[in-house]
Amino acid sequence: MIHEILPVGPLQCNCSVIGDEASREAMVIDPGDDIEDVLAIVQRHHLQVKQVVITHAHIDHVGGAMKLRTATGAPILLNQNDCALLKMLDVQAAWIGMASPGKVEIDHSVGSADTVKAGAITADVIHTPGHTEGSVCLYFPAERKLIAGDTLFAGSIGRTDLPGGSFEKIMRSLHERVMALPDETIVVPGHGPTTSIGEERENNPFLNR
Ligand SMILES: [Zn+2]
Repeated sequence: MIHEILPVGPLQCNCSVIGDEASREAMVIDPGDDIEDVLAIVQRHHLQVKQVVITHAHIDHVGGAMKLRTATGAPILLNQNDCALLKMLDVQAAWIGMASPGKVEIDHSVGSADTVKAGAITADVIHTPGHTEGSVCLYFPAERKLIAGDTLFAGSIGRTDLPGGSFEKIMRSLHERVMALPDETIVVPGHGPTTSIGEERENNPFLNR
């Protein structure tokens, strides 16, 4: 599996380009910004983007989605519980002092029991409300890898003080869904360094008490 992680935009959201070496099909996860750089990675690996997957509708994760859809023709996938947040991208842009990316449309809602694909590579969608109502994590079982969005970070968890956030819900999502994954699972958070479920089970102050 090809997996390139590119921190994009002023908040350095980890955008993932995931490609299948055999079919050269790809998915891009969280194209928040810097779409030219994302497309350069896609071209360097001779990939064709088939899906644009968004872990949640915060501007730093979704801001470049329409530009990427226009460039690739790939549909945008996001959990429908984040539609309200998606409609307030102008407000979100004002929070962090950046230009509004304009309107973002979703093509399909994804939730638990759905899978996303890049050729033969598949990931299970895990609905993990808490950071936002529609937050999802993506678990690649064959690779034992989790794209965690802003639900879990190395040594921390996602903030729950923004509209739609709930500390109670994020803790339930973490304990019942995320931490149910095997210790060896590599975790790629929405921001900052890569970690593992085992490392977080041991050392994350929000989880190990
Ligand atoms: Zn977020």
